[in-house]
This record gives sequence, C-alpha cells and structure tokens, in this order.
Amino acid sequence: MDGGTHIRSLKHFIAGKWVSATSGATFEVLNPLDDSPYAYAAKGSGNDVRQAVAAAKAAFTSFKETTPTERERWLLRVAEIMEVRQKDLVDCLIDEIGSPVQKAMFEFTKGLTMIRAAAGMCRNVRGETIPSDRPGTFSMSIREPLGVVAVITPFNVPLIKTTRLVANALAVGNTVVHLPSEMAPHLSLIFAEIVAEAGIPEGVYNVVTGMGAEIGDDLTSHKDIDFVTFTGSTVVGQHINEICAKNKTPNTLELGGKSPTIVLADADLDKVMPLAARSVFMFAGQACIASSRFYVERPLYDEFVKQFSFIIGKLGMGDLRDPNTVIAPAISPRQRERIKSHIDDARAKGANVIGGEWEGNRCQPTLLTDVSEDMAVCRTETFGPVTAIYPIDSYEEGLEKANDTEYGLSSAIFTKDIDKAFHFARNSNAGMCHINGPTIHDEAHVPFGGNGESGVGREGTDADMEAMTELKWVTVQL
Ligand code: NAD
Repeated sequence: MDGGTHIRSLKHFIAGKWVSATSGATFEVLNPLDDSPYAYAAKGSGNDVRQAVAAAKAAFTSFKETTPTERERWLLRVAEIMEVRQKDLVDCLIDEIGSPVQKAMFEFTKGLTMIRAAAGMCRNVRGETIPSDRPGTFSMSIREPLGVVAVITPFNVPLIKTTRLVANALAVGNTVVHLPSEMAPHLSLIFAEIVAEAGIPEGVYNVVTGMGAEIGDDLTSHKDIDFVTFTGSTVVGQHINEICAKNKTPNTLELGGKSPTIVLADADLDKVMPLAARSVFMFAGQACIASSRFYVERPLYDEFVKQFSFIIGKLGMGDLRDPNTVIAPAISPRQRERIKSHIDDARAKGANVIGGEWEGNRCQPTLLTDVSEDMAVCRTETFGPVTAIYPIDSYEEGLEKANDTEYGLSSAIFTKDIDKAFHFARNSNAGMCHINGPTIHDEAHVPFGGNGESGVGREGTDADMEAMTELKWVTVQL
C-alpha cells in the first residue's frame, strides 16, 4: 500500500501480499468533507474474492491448530501496534469518512478494547462433559472453529466493526475474508498492516476492496464460506439472509434502526439533555443506534423542545480536528439526498423544522416537531442528524409508540420510576434497552444486536463465541 501526502493507492491484502485487482481496475474514494480524492482502491471482482477465500481456507488448516497462547499473544500484539499507529488510524477516520476527532478517538479507544476483549476469548473455547444413559460411556462436547468467516462492514464505525468482528473470529481459530465498505477501505487496510506486523500467519486475515453490490454475492454465496457476519443496511441484510438460507450458511446480521427514547415527566432534564444530544448527533446521526424518535410526556414537552433547540445550536460544526466539533459531513451524495428529502418531505407536510440548513456537505442538527404518520421520517431510517420529538400523555402511550416500528435495535427511557423503567426494559421490542442512558452505547462483551428489521443474532465476545464456533459431541466407551 502506498501512503504519504499524495493520493493513496490501495491494494487488496490476500495471503499476506498486497495485490492489485486481477482486472487492474480501481475506484475512487472521496473525502466526504469536500469530495476531494482521498484514495484509489483496487476494484475487486469475483476472481479476487475467490483468491481471498482460497487463501483463508488454506490458512485455516494450520490456524485452527494454534494454541490459545499463540492467538492471545497475536491479538495483544495487534493492540500494542494499534497504539503505536494511533495517529494513522485516527487521521484515516477523519479524512476517509469525515469523523470529527472526538468520534475518531472514541472509535480508536473502543477498537482497542475490542481487540483486548477478544484476546480473552482464546482460553475460553470450551465444551462440557455430559452425563450419558449408556453405561461406561464418557460423553462430552467440544467447541470447534467454523472455518472461513466473511466479515462485511459498513462505513460509519469501520474501526469498531473491524476490530470486534475480525478479532472475535480469529480468537476462536477461524480465518477471515473481509469486505469493507467501499467508502472506508483504507481503514481496514491499515488494520491489515497491523495484523501482518503482529506476525499473524499469512492468509488468516484477507481484505478485498470493491463495490459490495458487485462482489458481495461472490463472497456470501461461496461454498467455502462457513459463516457470514454482516453489518449494514436492512435491504442488503435481507438479501444476504436469503443467500445464507439457501446455502445453510450461519450468519449474524446487524442492520438499521429507528431507535426510540421515552422521557417521562419525572425525568431530570439537566441530566437528560446532554445524553439526548449525544444519542442523536454523534457522528451526525450516522449511527445505527442513534435515537431518531423522542416521546416526551406533556408536562416536560415544551421545556424539552426549548432546551434541545438551544443545545443543538451549540454543537460544533468546525474543523474536524477541533475537539469541539461534533457534526460530521454526510458520507455520500446519495446519503445527502436522503437526508434532504426527509427534511423537505416533513416540512412540506407541515412539520416544524428547527435547524435543517446545510453548510457544504454538513447538515445542521435538526429537530422536527408536529411529525405525522405520512412523513417519511416517521418510520424510515434517515441516518443523518435529524430526530423527531412527539408529545405523549402517559408512559403506556410512550411504550406503545416506541414499539410501533418494524425495527428493534436500541431503546431508552428516562424516569425516576423504577417500576416503569423495568416494565419498559421487559416490554421494549428492541434488542438493547437503556434506563436513564442514551440509545448509543456499546461494549465489547455485551450482547449487541437487534430484532425484527434490525437484524438476526448478537455480536460480542460471548455471543460470537457461540456464533462463530460449533459444538461437536464426542463419546468414549470405557
Ligand atoms: P450498506 O448496506 O450500504 O453497506 C454495508 C456493507 O455491505 C458495505 O461493505 C457494502 O460494500 C456491502 N454490500 C453492499 N451490497 C452487498 C451485497 N449484495 N452483498 C454483500 N455485501 C454487500 O450500509 P452502509 O451505508 O455502509 O451503512 C449504513 C447502514 O448500516 C445503516 O442502515 C445502519 O443502521 C447500519 N448499521 C448497523 C449497525 C448495527 O450494528 N446494527 C452498525 C452500523 C451500521
């Protein structure tokens, strides 16, 4: 991979080598802040995918025999090298996908935690002894790696997703072919450099760059792919789910969301407001678990809207390297169009719009009130710095409205009433529920994931231990 101040030229990382696309084709990666060229990356084809899968399959034969100590040492070495390469990773998050430095540092720190938590998995690939009905039989289960894992990641949190999913797969003895977002290939290639420097054997981690829509099926439908872990939009996830069902390939799908936050009348707004702002506007709403619906009990509603309007005016939209900057550019022209169309549609149908103006490729933080069912923003994911605030007359109404969605990713409630808080935790249809905390929350070892249109399965060290291995029953007749 070429670096430096000139426009980067990025290659695939296959079998420990940096290789161009077999077709010789490349594609342009743009800095979303001003659409200036950031890199040219190898534009992979089915051929390149097959080479990467073959490399991962060949490497699996010996990698599955490695000891926990070896894998643990490699992963901890990856974390050490990541710390040395902090500036490269953070610069990449800023310039390749437009992360404000504050979000880039959050992602870097979280990524380190993901790697170190995965190192802890290596010694826990365990089965159990099982009582047998057959006299004189010693019966047990052993847990084995699956083989080659396809890791497909989105643009918005590329370091968190790469570190978590690649490290969890390797920790239990699998090998990986990684298809990063076409908008964030460089980040995964820096990670590949780190993996190589850590001494992880060739072919264990492979990265193919290119257009997911063109080569994704070559990867997910390949007969030598033993597990698919996908994070991205619901529509692509649905497509992958169908391919996996046909081939009986186990998978986890982490998809979109329309996450609700309920604020009851007894909530302390001094505590709620900064968390509410964080839960929508971190990385300008380009987060699957961003809260795009607020249900506020009527006694607090006017004050909540007033304070939220004040806070969003203070969110920094300056230099991405300024620690006070919060608002990021929207990633692509298509995404900018989507955000604009949701705001325009809401305005045209009678919503009150606070914010919503654009400065270059950045949309101001935007609050919508008087939102009705016929507005696109009401039910579909905007994936931008936009949220709707609705008044409610009771907790029960808030619960009903929060659950009235096809999605089910994250949810939150702010209240001092412990009965209502726990009732919500038990009855929210989301896969994750936070009491007096924001919908945006993730840790390496928790079961992270959603229900319904938000996905299938869970990520995290424990969940991936289950998902990325299989049990085998073994008996010994004594
Ligand atoms: P996307 O679906 O456009 O792309 C995600 C990945 O899928 C990319 O790597 C892309 O190249 C690849 N891809 C595209 N077509 C494919 C195909 N046919 N087969 C295989 N791979 C294919 O999503 P995005 O715009 O990068 O990310 C935004 C979406 O991701 C949002 O909907 C967001 O909610 C979701 N997301 C979910 C989580 C979660 O954990 N639930 C986390 C982050 C983002």
